[in-house]
Amino acid sequence: MTNNTSEWNLEKANDTYMINRWGLNYYSINERGNLSVCPERTTTGPQIDISEVIEEMKSKNIAFPAVIRFQDILRSQVKLINKYFKQSIEEANYRGTYFGVYPIKVNQMREVVEEIVDAGAPFNYGLEAGSKTELMAVLAQNENKQSLNVCNGYKDKEFMKLALLGVKLGRKVIVVIEKFSELPLLLQTAEEMNVEPMIGFRAKLLSKSTGKWAGSSGEKAKFGLNSSELIKGINFLKEKNKLQCLKLFHFHIGSQIPDIITIKAALTEAARTYANLRKMGAPIEYFDVGGGVGVDYDGTRTNSQSSINYTFKDYADDVVYILKDICNNEEVDHPHIVSESGRAVTAHHSCVVTNVFGKISLTKNEINTDKKTGEHSLVKQMRDISEEIHEKNYQEYFLDAISKKEECFSAFNLGVIDLEERGKIETLYWQIADKAYQFGLRDPYVPDQILDLKNFLADQYLCNLSVFQSAPDTWAIDQVLPVVPIKRLLEKPTKLCSIVDITCDSDGKLSKFLNDEAGLSNSMAIHEIHEKEDYYIGLFLTGAYQDVMGDMHNLFGRLNEVHVYCDDDDPSDFYIEEVILGNSPSDVLTTMQYTPSTMAAKVKAQIDDQIKRGKIRPREGVELTDFYEAAMKGYTYLTQLS
Ligand SMILES: *Cc1c(COP(=O)(O)O)cnc(C)c1O
Repeated sequence: MTNNTSEWNLEKANDTYMINRWGLNYYSINERGNLSVCPERTTTGPQIDISEVIEEMKSKNIAFPAVIRFQDILRSQVKLINKYFKQSIEEANYRGTYFGVYPIKVNQMREVVEEIVDAGAPFNYGLEAGSKTELMAVLAQNENKQSLNVCNGYKDKEFMKLALLGVKLGRKVIVVIEKFSELPLLLQTAEEMNVEPMIGFRAKLLSKSTGKWAGSSGEKAKFGLNSSELIKGINFLKEKNKLQCLKLFHFHIGSQIPDIITIKAALTEAARTYANLRKMGAPIEYFDVGGGVGVDYDGTRTNSQSSINYTFKDYADDVVYILKDICNNEEVDHPHIVSESGRAVTAHHSCVVTNVFGKISLTKNEINTDKKTGEHSLVKQMRDISEEIHEKNYQEYFLDAISKKEECFSAFNLGVIDLEERGKIETLYWQIADKAYQFGLRDPYVPDQILDLKNFLADQYLCNLSVFQSAPDTWAIDQVLPVVPIKRLLEKPTKLCSIVDITCDSDGKLSKFLNDEAGLSNSMAIHEIHEKEDYYIGLFLTGAYQDVMGDMHNLFGRLNEVHVYCDDDDPSDFYIEEVILGNSPSDVLTTMQYTPSTMAAKVKAQIDDQIKRGKIRPREGVELTDFYEAAMKGYTYLTQLS
């Protein structure tokens, strides 16, 4: 980054936060320098200014942090993946149809599922369930008899009965066999219920993905039938005269597949397997390629773990063409194609918006380091370095400062210098480090030790959120998420920061950021925050897995949530259709087995006791009792910051 403010413009802002890279054209910066949402993926269409959404939320007293769902993005993604498959199928003269299903584990929120089902209705887009509870939701939420309902995951008899109930309702509910023993149980249950089951076989492929979910395939994978079990399954169905029930062939090699090469390899193995099963007489109609299409979280368009080196259309092309070629080669029918993409459908539609409420800075200290008579010579030596450091000597002087700081630490432990002197020495040290870094920026031959200062000197911006609740994958699996200031994007961000949350956990932070030059960086560009300014940042691409997998670490609960719809006729191009309030302390305490009313009574009894002892005035006692009860119904995040 250069220091020339005049060089900053909208393009620079776009590049710095890589908005065009990760945003799929749903996000852009408007002429006011505010981040905005373009539901039609073009700036010539309607544009929703996120800061206007925030203002409207404030006017409705909705506290932050909050989840904002842009339902139009969700609908658009559903339509797009159906469109891409349709296109590939037409281009290839493929003789099957596409029947996508949305795996609800990715985001089970009723409103999310409803929106997807509604947007997918013209395409007979279905749902996928991985547990009994999810299947109960699926049975209730999608009444379209043409669309598929795919049941994955280990199953007991009750799970199967639920699926067969669906079949009785005239729905296409397919039970995917994950391990051999499920097959006799399914046939037995179907017989008891007097219904023909729809059966799927999940194959355990040897083709493996890379990245975090590599273990979803390969010989030691948790789910699926290997070659010999597939044959055993076919023979079993033949024996029971039920081979006609085998409708679907399924595989899933893992989530967030970074490399298209692995997808091609898996498709090849799967297509050959399908063709062989067909030749053994199984009348399989559907070829289900599972999920796994990744999202370019870090914007690098590479096969790095937080990225992907292909587009959805590339993926659809590969599925259709590879399957077509192998089916033609093996002379078997082209099956209908099913895919179970979840992440790629939902990631973009929601973000978490939160306020920055302070910062921790190493370089900016209020303490006066002026000369004082009788001060220890270490203080003077550090001050001399600070005054005399320049572009020719900065490396040597910085090393000097490091050793002086170490001496200072020993001197303090030995009682030779006091806390005030130590404070001065450390203040001077960070000023020296900052100067050394600035000199280093202008030096073509700068040592790594100085460059490493960049992240060390970055401020820590304090954000009102819990990483564990709102961005668990950044903590659990080192996932990167785009973080972008909501406003002032036409203004050059002059600071570098990392982000720390409000949990009492040193892991509660974000320290990996998108970087247009270096791939990833440990700090991000950000503005200096003005006094009394409400400064908001957004964490983007949180619509898949994040909020549903978040936990209540430190008892920070679910977030307030708004659902925003585009309305071209509205002057601001949007309206807030729904507000879902997040958890109160009372809610989260209840899930931890507390009884808020009893708790309030216990606190009140203690207050009454103090009143009796004359420690609290009766009027104040009433106020304190009311305060405790009101806080119980409040928000678990910081709400009163001044
Ligand atoms: C999790 C899962 C999916 C969804 O995967 P994405 O990576 O979100 O597309 C699809 N199918 C199965 C069997 C799964 O377990």
